[in-house]
Amino acid sequence: MELRPRSAPPFSSPTATTTNPNVRTPSSASFSRHSVLRSNENTLTSYEEQSFSKKPPPLVFLRHHQDQERCIPFLVVGKGSNCLFDDRGFDGLVVQNRLRQLEVIERGVYRVGSGFPFNQLGVRCSADGLSGLEFAGGIPGTVGGAVFMNAGANSQETGDVVDNVEIITTDGELQVLRRAELAFGYRWSSFQAMNNLAAILAVTFRLTPSVSTRELQRAFLERRRRSQPVGERCAGSVFRNPTGIEISAGKLIELAGLKGFAIGGAKVSDIHANFFINFNGCTSQDMLALINHVKQRVDEQFQIELKEEIIYVPYVIRHM
Ligand SMILES: Cc1cc2nc3c(=O)[nH]c(=O)nc-3n(C[C@H](O)[C@H](O)[C@H](O)COP(=O)(O)OP(=O)(O)OC[C@H]3O[C@@H](n4cnc5c(N)ncnc54)[C@H](O)[C@@H]3O)c2cc1C
Repeated sequence: MELRPRSAPPFSSPTATTTNPNVRTPSSASFSRHSVLRSNENTLTSYEEQSFSKKPPPLVFLRHHQDQERCIPFLVVGKGSNCLFDDRGFDGLVVQNRLRQLEVIERGVYRVGSGFPFNQLGVRCSADGLSGLEFAGGIPGTVGGAVFMNAGANSQETGDVVDNVEIITTDGELQVLRRAELAFGYRWSSFQAMNNLAAILAVTFRLTPSVSTRELQRAFLERRRRSQPVGERCAGSVFRNPTGIEISAGKLIELAGLKGFAIGGAKVSDIHANFFINFNGCTSQDMLALINHVKQRVDEQFQIELKEEIIYVPYVIRHM
């Protein structure tokens, strides 16, 4: 997926300190250590926002630091569980989302902060006897990342149960987008095409009561444990499944004889060929080299061009 650049309104310095008690500002944090893949030890500036309803989020705060000369690219991340950061880091601002409130509006309707762990939400909904997010129990990202990516598994997708989404635009405007205004596809949401999205702040889910939801979730988790390298450092599926044919990306990679193939510290999992593991101090260059090698081999052998699901975050994002 193409990473769309976002620009914060001009402000004075990426390492500016803040007096907002809800924003923690480690001026020089190594984000890769917080991301799931941990491919490298790059240095980034990160902000952590912790409440969504009463206090202004950091992007609004940044608008108060006007400097017409500068416009800083920024990236909002949840757990970074679908991201591969460049070895040099990111020349901009990384906002690591910590909006973790959960509000029960009525039976089956939950308004959840976009930084809430998606797996915890899935488990909570099933424990409450609600169906629709059973698959989420095995996904290590946040609610915001899941909606942005339209994460899915086991024939369920995030978008199926979204009622509305609260966002903040790059102009600092808060908007509530109703279900009818949103579109979702395979690992795609209309948020990926928005030019003025700063961040997803909260999502309201509408779920259906079910007596078998816990059993279903247990079965999904068990299937995951059997078929995926659970506990390894990876970023989930590297490639999207090709459309129009019945064979998965993982199966194609396996048929190309690439299970266990490694470049540097990056390796194709022995358990699931669409999962690439950081097994030995992997750099983003190792991972990119492995991705390109696998793409080339699958293309040569099957004339199928695999497309990345994982998002590579380059050091510099160019303005559009
Ligand atoms: C072991 C493992 C298993 C996985 N299994 C699955 C699976 O079964 N199905 C699946 O679909 N995915 C899977 N994934 C991939 C990943 O967990 C999902 O894509 C997840 O939804 C990403 O969430 P995140 O919060 O980590 O997003 P990040 O990786 O942090 O971000 C992903 C994208 O979303 C954007 N984003 C994140 N939060 C916000 C926000 N609040 N506002 C605006 N934009 C935002 C980021 O800018 C980025 O472009 C797996 C990953 C791992 C490591």
